[in-house]
Amino acid sequence: AKADGRGTFRFFEEGMNRAVHARLQLEQELRRGIAQGEFVLHYQPQHDLATKEIRSYEALLRWQHPRHGLVGPDTFITVAEETGLIEPLGRWVMQQACRDAARWLPPLKVSVNLSPAQFRSGDIVAMVAEALEAADLEPDRLELEITESLLLNHTETTLSTLSRLKAMGVRIAMDDFGTGYSSLAYLWQFPFDKLKIDRSFIGNLNVDRNVDAIVAAIIGLGHSLGMTVTAEGVEVEEQAKFLESHACHEIQGFLYGTPAPYAGLLAGPRPDPKR
Ligand code: C2E
Ligand code: CA
Ligand code: CA
Ligand code: CA
Repeated sequence: AKADGRGTFRFFEEGMNRAVHARLQLEQELRRGIAQGEFVLHYQPQHDLATKEIRSYEALLRWQHPRHGLVGPDTFITVAEETGLIEPLGRWVMQQACRDAARWLPPLKVSVNLSPAQFRSGDIVAMVAEALEAADLEPDRLELEITESLLLNHTETTLSTLSRLKAMGVRIAMDDFGTGYSSLAYLWQFPFDKLKIDRSFIGNLNVDRNVDAIVAAIIGLGHSLGMTVTAEGVEVEEQAKFLESHACHEIQGFLYGTPAPYAGLLAGPRPDPKR
Protein backbone atom coordinates (compact mmCIF):
# COMPACT_ATOMS: atom_id res chain seq x y z
CA ALA A 1 0.00 0.00 0.00
CA LYS A 2 2.93 2.24 0.89
CA ALA A 3 4.56 1.70 -2.51
CA ASP A 4 1.22 2.37 -4.20
CA GLY A 5 0.84 5.65 -2.38
CA ARG A 6 4.30 6.80 -3.34
CA GLY A 7 3.77 5.78 -6.94
CA THR A 8 0.53 7.71 -7.06
CA PHE A 9 2.17 10.75 -5.54
CA ARG A 10 5.08 10.58 -7.93
CA PHE A 11 2.70 10.34 -10.87
CA PHE A 12 0.72 13.28 -9.56
CA GLU A 13 3.91 15.28 -9.05
CA GLU A 14 5.07 14.54 -12.58
CA GLY A 15 1.71 15.63 -13.93
CA MET A 16 1.94 18.77 -11.89
CA ASN A 17 5.45 19.50 -13.12
CA ARG A 18 4.26 19.08 -16.66
CA ALA A 19 1.43 21.54 -16.08
CA VAL A 20 3.78 24.06 -14.45
CA HIS A 21 6.25 23.61 -17.28
CA ALA A 22 3.57 24.12 -19.94
CA ARG A 23 2.39 27.26 -18.16
CA LEU A 24 5.93 28.67 -17.95
CA GLN A 25 6.42 27.91 -21.61
CA LEU A 26 3.18 29.70 -22.50
CA GLU A 27 4.25 32.69 -20.40
CA GLN A 28 7.59 32.91 -22.23
CA GLU A 29 5.84 32.52 -25.57
CA LEU A 30 3.39 35.29 -24.62
CA ARG A 31 6.25 37.66 -23.77
CA ARG A 32 7.88 36.88 -27.07
CA GLY A 33 4.63 37.23 -29.03
CA ILE A 34 3.83 40.59 -27.43
CA ALA A 35 7.35 41.87 -28.19
CA GLN A 36 7.07 40.60 -31.78
CA GLY A 37 3.63 42.13 -32.30
CA GLU A 38 1.93 38.84 -33.12
CA PHE A 39 -1.51 39.81 -31.81
CA VAL A 40 -4.42 40.87 -33.98
CA LEU A 41 -7.99 41.98 -33.40
CA HIS A 42 -10.99 40.45 -35.07
CA TYR A 43 -14.30 42.29 -35.06
CA GLN A 44 -17.82 40.96 -34.69
CA PRO A 45 -20.86 43.16 -35.41
CA GLN A 46 -23.68 43.98 -33.01
CA HIS A 47 -26.78 44.68 -35.09
CA ASP A 48 -29.76 46.79 -34.17
CA LEU A 49 -32.60 44.30 -34.42
CA ALA A 50 -35.19 46.84 -35.55
CA THR A 51 -33.20 48.78 -38.16
CA LYS A 52 -30.69 46.01 -39.02
CA GLU A 53 -27.90 48.57 -38.80
CA ILE A 54 -24.54 47.72 -37.25
CA ARG A 55 -24.23 49.64 -33.97
CA SER A 56 -20.85 48.41 -32.79
CA TYR A 57 -18.05 45.98 -33.50
CA GLU A 58 -16.70 43.92 -30.61
CA ALA A 59 -12.91 43.58 -30.66
CA LEU A 60 -11.89 39.96 -30.07
CA LEU A 61 -8.23 39.20 -29.47
CA ARG A 62 -6.37 36.62 -31.57
CA TRP A 63 -2.75 35.46 -31.55
CA GLN A 64 -1.21 34.93 -34.97
CA HIS A 65 1.32 32.39 -33.74
CA PRO A 66 4.20 31.54 -36.10
CA ARG A 67 3.87 27.78 -35.48
CA HIS A 68 0.38 27.22 -34.06
CA GLY A 69 -1.55 29.50 -36.42
CA LEU A 70 -4.45 31.65 -35.24
CA VAL A 71 -4.96 31.06 -31.51
CA GLY A 72 -8.12 32.16 -29.66
CA PRO A 73 -8.17 34.04 -26.33
CA ASP A 74 -9.43 31.12 -24.27
CA THR A 75 -5.99 29.47 -24.53
CA PHE A 76 -3.94 32.43 -23.29
CA ILE A 77 -6.06 35.09 -21.50
CA THR A 78 -5.97 33.32 -18.12
CA VAL A 79 -2.17 32.98 -18.17
CA ALA A 80 -1.88 36.60 -19.32
CA GLU A 81 -4.02 37.62 -16.33
CA GLU A 82 -2.07 35.51 -13.84
CA THR A 83 1.32 36.78 -15.03
CA GLY A 84 0.43 40.44 -15.35
CA LEU A 85 1.00 40.28 -19.10
CA ILE A 86 -2.64 41.32 -19.55
CA GLU A 87 -1.49 44.86 -18.78
CA PRO A 88 0.71 45.41 -21.88
CA LEU A 89 -1.57 43.18 -23.95
CA GLY A 90 -4.74 44.95 -22.84
CA ARG A 91 -3.12 48.31 -23.46
CA TRP A 92 -2.29 47.24 -27.01
CA VAL A 93 -5.88 46.01 -27.53
CA MET A 94 -7.28 49.35 -26.35
CA GLN A 95 -4.94 51.38 -28.56
CA GLN A 96 -5.50 49.25 -31.65
CA ALA A 97 -9.29 49.13 -31.21
CA CYS A 98 -9.47 52.92 -30.81
CA ARG A 99 -7.23 53.46 -33.85
CA ASP A 100 -9.40 51.15 -35.96
CA ALA A 101 -12.66 52.70 -34.76
CA ALA A 102 -11.41 56.21 -35.52
CA ARG A 103 -11.55 55.21 -39.20
CA TRP A 104 -15.19 54.07 -39.04
CA LEU A 105 -18.10 56.37 -39.71
CA PRO A 106 -19.81 57.72 -36.60
CA PRO A 107 -21.87 56.72 -34.72
CA LEU A 108 -20.42 53.21 -35.19
CA LYS A 109 -18.81 52.14 -31.90
CA VAL A 110 -16.12 49.71 -30.86
CA SER A 111 -16.60 47.38 -27.88
CA VAL A 112 -13.52 46.31 -25.93
CA ASN A 113 -13.36 43.54 -23.32
CA LEU A 114 -11.66 44.29 -20.00
CA SER A 115 -10.64 41.66 -17.50
CA PRO A 116 -10.71 42.26 -13.73
CA ALA A 117 -6.90 41.93 -13.64
CA GLN A 118 -6.67 45.12 -15.70
CA PHE A 119 -8.58 47.03 -13.01
CA ARG A 120 -6.22 45.80 -10.32
CA SER A 121 -3.00 46.73 -12.09
CA GLY A 122 -2.19 50.32 -12.95
CA ASP A 123 -4.48 53.19 -13.75
CA ILE A 124 -7.07 51.92 -16.18
CA VAL A 125 -8.76 55.32 -16.47
CA ALA A 126 -5.50 56.90 -17.68
CA MET A 127 -4.88 53.94 -20.00
CA VAL A 128 -8.29 54.39 -21.67
CA ALA A 129 -7.95 58.19 -21.83
CA GLU A 130 -4.53 57.90 -23.50
CA ALA A 131 -5.81 55.44 -26.10
CA LEU A 132 -8.76 57.72 -26.97
CA GLU A 133 -6.50 60.73 -27.14
CA ALA A 134 -3.85 59.04 -29.30
CA ALA A 135 -6.48 57.78 -31.75
CA ASP A 136 -8.48 61.02 -31.65
CA LEU A 137 -11.64 59.01 -30.94
CA GLU A 138 -14.70 60.49 -29.24
CA PRO A 139 -15.27 58.72 -25.88
CA ASP A 140 -18.91 57.90 -26.75
CA ARG A 141 -17.65 55.69 -29.61
CA LEU A 142 -15.97 53.38 -27.10
CA GLU A 143 -17.84 50.77 -25.10
CA LEU A 144 -16.13 48.75 -22.36
CA GLU A 145 -17.39 45.22 -21.67
CA ILE A 146 -16.92 43.99 -18.13
CA THR A 147 -18.20 40.88 -16.37
CA GLU A 148 -19.83 40.43 -12.99
CA SER A 149 -16.66 38.81 -11.65
CA LEU A 150 -15.11 42.29 -11.65
CA LEU A 151 -17.68 43.52 -9.14
CA LEU A 152 -17.50 40.43 -6.95
CA ASN A 153 -14.53 41.57 -4.83
CA HIS A 154 -13.11 45.09 -5.10
CA THR A 155 -16.55 46.64 -5.09
CA GLU A 156 -15.95 50.19 -3.90
CA THR A 157 -12.80 51.09 -5.82
CA THR A 158 -14.17 49.29 -8.85
CA LEU A 159 -17.43 51.20 -8.77
CA SER A 160 -15.61 54.53 -8.50
CA THR A 161 -13.30 53.56 -11.39
CA LEU A 162 -16.33 52.66 -13.50
CA SER A 163 -17.97 55.96 -12.56
CA ARG A 164 -14.87 57.87 -13.67
CA LEU A 165 -14.87 56.06 -17.00
CA LYS A 166 -18.55 56.78 -17.45
CA ALA A 167 -17.99 60.44 -16.57
CA MET A 168 -15.45 60.57 -19.41
CA GLY A 169 -18.29 59.65 -21.77
CA VAL A 170 -17.29 56.03 -22.33
CA ARG A 171 -20.13 53.49 -22.31
CA ILE A 172 -20.12 50.53 -19.93
CA ALA A 173 -21.66 47.17 -20.80
CA MET A 174 -22.21 44.21 -18.53
CA ASP A 175 -21.07 41.13 -20.43
CA ASP A 176 -22.28 37.53 -19.96
CA PHE A 177 -25.29 38.82 -18.01
CA GLY A 178 -27.08 36.16 -15.97
CA THR A 179 -24.14 33.82 -15.44
CA GLY A 180 -22.92 35.31 -12.15
CA TYR A 181 -24.30 34.87 -8.67
CA SER A 182 -25.74 38.29 -7.96
CA SER A 183 -26.33 39.96 -11.30
CA LEU A 184 -29.30 41.93 -10.05
CA ALA A 185 -27.43 43.46 -7.11
CA TYR A 186 -24.88 44.92 -9.52
CA LEU A 187 -27.54 46.42 -11.76
CA TRP A 188 -28.82 48.31 -8.78
CA GLN A 189 -25.34 49.56 -7.79
CA PHE A 190 -24.12 50.77 -11.14
CA PRO A 191 -25.93 52.38 -14.10
CA PHE A 192 -24.75 50.19 -16.97
CA ASP A 193 -25.47 51.41 -20.48
CA LYS A 194 -25.90 47.91 -21.85
CA LEU A 195 -26.70 44.36 -20.78
CA LYS A 196 -25.39 41.50 -22.88
CA ILE A 197 -27.45 38.38 -22.30
CA ASP A 198 -25.08 35.42 -22.10
CA ARG A 199 -25.11 33.05 -25.02
CA SER A 200 -25.86 30.05 -22.78
CA PHE A 201 -29.41 31.45 -22.51
CA ILE A 202 -29.74 32.28 -26.19
CA GLY A 203 -28.61 28.77 -27.16
CA ASN A 204 -31.62 27.34 -25.31
CA LEU A 205 -34.28 29.71 -26.62
CA ASN A 206 -37.29 27.92 -28.09
CA VAL A 207 -36.04 24.71 -26.50
CA ASP A 208 -36.67 25.31 -22.83
CA ARG A 209 -39.71 27.40 -21.84
CA ASN A 210 -38.03 28.48 -18.61
CA VAL A 211 -35.18 29.95 -20.62
CA ASP A 212 -37.67 31.77 -22.85
CA ALA A 213 -39.25 33.29 -19.76
CA ILE A 214 -35.88 34.33 -18.29
CA VAL A 215 -34.73 35.97 -21.52
CA ALA A 216 -38.04 37.81 -21.91
CA ALA A 217 -37.71 39.02 -18.31
CA ILE A 218 -34.11 40.23 -18.79
CA ILE A 219 -35.16 42.18 -21.88
CA GLY A 220 -38.03 43.75 -19.94
CA LEU A 221 -35.70 44.59 -17.07
CA GLY A 222 -33.28 46.29 -19.46
CA HIS A 223 -36.14 48.32 -20.92
CA SER A 224 -37.30 49.43 -17.48
CA LEU A 225 -33.79 50.44 -16.46
CA GLY A 226 -33.21 52.32 -19.70
CA MET A 227 -30.38 50.02 -20.75
CA THR A 228 -29.65 48.67 -24.20
CA VAL A 229 -30.12 44.90 -24.27
CA THR A 230 -27.93 42.82 -26.57
CA ALA A 231 -28.31 39.08 -27.10
CA GLU A 232 -25.06 37.18 -27.61
CA GLY A 233 -24.50 33.98 -29.57
CA VAL A 234 -27.49 34.23 -31.90
CA GLU A 235 -26.96 31.35 -34.33
CA VAL A 236 -30.34 30.59 -35.86
CA GLU A 237 -33.22 32.56 -37.31
CA GLU A 238 -35.74 31.31 -34.71
CA GLN A 239 -33.66 32.84 -31.93
CA ALA A 240 -33.58 36.20 -33.74
CA LYS A 241 -37.38 36.01 -34.22
CA PHE A 242 -37.96 35.37 -30.53
CA LEU A 243 -35.70 38.28 -29.59
CA GLU A 244 -37.35 40.59 -32.09
CA SER A 245 -40.81 39.72 -30.81
CA HIS A 246 -39.65 40.74 -27.31
CA ALA A 247 -38.13 43.98 -28.60
CA CYS A 248 -34.55 43.07 -27.74
CA HIS A 249 -32.45 45.98 -29.01
CA GLU A 250 -29.37 44.30 -30.48
CA ILE A 251 -28.10 40.92 -31.50
CA GLN A 252 -24.64 39.50 -31.98
CA GLY A 253 -23.79 36.04 -33.22
CA PHE A 254 -22.71 33.78 -36.03
CA LEU A 255 -26.13 34.23 -37.73
CA TYR A 256 -25.38 37.82 -38.73
CA GLY A 257 -21.60 37.97 -38.60
CA THR A 258 -18.62 35.97 -37.40
CA PRO A 259 -15.51 37.71 -36.03
CA ALA A 260 -13.34 38.90 -38.93
CA PRO A 261 -10.13 40.89 -39.41
CA TYR A 262 -10.42 44.65 -39.77
CA ALA A 263 -9.65 44.57 -43.50
CA GLY A 264 -12.53 42.15 -44.08
CA LEU A 265 -15.08 44.50 -42.55
CA LEU A 266 -14.68 47.14 -45.21
CA ALA A 267 -13.60 45.06 -48.19
CA GLY A 268 -16.05 42.16 -48.05
CA PRO A 269 -19.79 42.40 -48.48
CA ARG A 270 -21.54 43.34 -45.25
CA PRO A 271 -23.69 40.53 -43.91
CA ASP A 272 -27.29 41.33 -44.78
CA PRO A 273 -29.45 40.66 -41.72
CA LYS A 274 -32.65 40.72 -43.77
CA ARG A 275 -31.69 37.65 -45.73
P1 C2E B 1 -16.95 37.18 -24.86
O1 C2E B 1 -16.59 38.57 -24.49
O2 C2E B 1 -18.20 36.63 -24.27
O3 C2E B 1 -16.96 37.16 -26.45
C1 C2E B 1 -17.87 36.44 -27.23
C2 C2E B 1 -17.30 35.11 -27.64
O4 C2E B 1 -18.34 34.36 -28.26
C3 C2E B 1 -16.19 35.23 -28.70
O5 C2E B 1 -15.27 34.15 -28.51
C4 C2E B 1 -16.97 35.03 -30.01
O6 C2E B 1 -16.17 34.56 -31.08
C5 C2E B 1 -17.97 33.98 -29.56
N1 C2E B 1 -19.19 34.01 -30.38
C6 C2E B 1 -19.75 35.05 -31.01
N2 C2E B 1 -20.91 34.70 -31.64
C7 C2E B 1 -21.08 33.39 -31.38
C8 C2E B 1 -22.11 32.44 -31.76
O7 C2E B 1 -23.08 32.74 -32.46
N3 C2E B 1 -21.94 31.17 -31.29
C9 C2E B 1 -20.87 30.80 -30.53
N4 C2E B 1 -20.79 29.53 -30.13
N5 C2E B 1 -19.90 31.67 -30.16
C10 C2E B 1 -20.00 32.95 -30.57
P2 C2E B 1 -13.70 34.39 -28.49
O8 C2E B 1 -13.33 35.39 -29.52
O9 C2E B 1 -13.05 33.05 -28.50
O10 C2E B 1 -13.46 35.09 -27.08
C11 C2E B 1 -13.63 34.37 -25.88
C12 C2E B 1 -13.53 35.28 -24.69
O11 C2E B 1 -12.20 35.80 -24.56
C13 C2E B 1 -14.42 36.52 -24.78
O12 C2E B 1 -15.74 36.17 -24.44
C14 C2E B 1 -13.75 37.43 -23.77
O13 C2E B 1 -14.16 37.10 -22.47
C15 C2E B 1 -12.29 37.06 -23.93
N6 C2E B 1 -11.60 38.07 -24.76
C16 C2E B 1 -11.58 38.21 -26.11
N7 C2E B 1 -10.84 39.28 -26.49
C17 C2E B 1 -10.40 39.85 -25.34
C18 C2E B 1 -9.60 41.01 -25.04
O14 C2E B 1 -9.15 41.77 -25.92
N8 C2E B 1 -9.35 41.27 -23.72
C19 C2E B 1 -9.85 40.49 -22.71
N9 C2E B 1 -9.56 40.82 -21.46
N10 C2E B 1 -10.60 39.41 -22.95
C20 C2E B 1 -10.88 39.09 -24.24
CA1 CA C 1 -17.52 40.51 -24.61
CA1 CA D 1 -20.02 37.68 -23.61
CA1 CA E 1 -17.50 35.24 -21.95
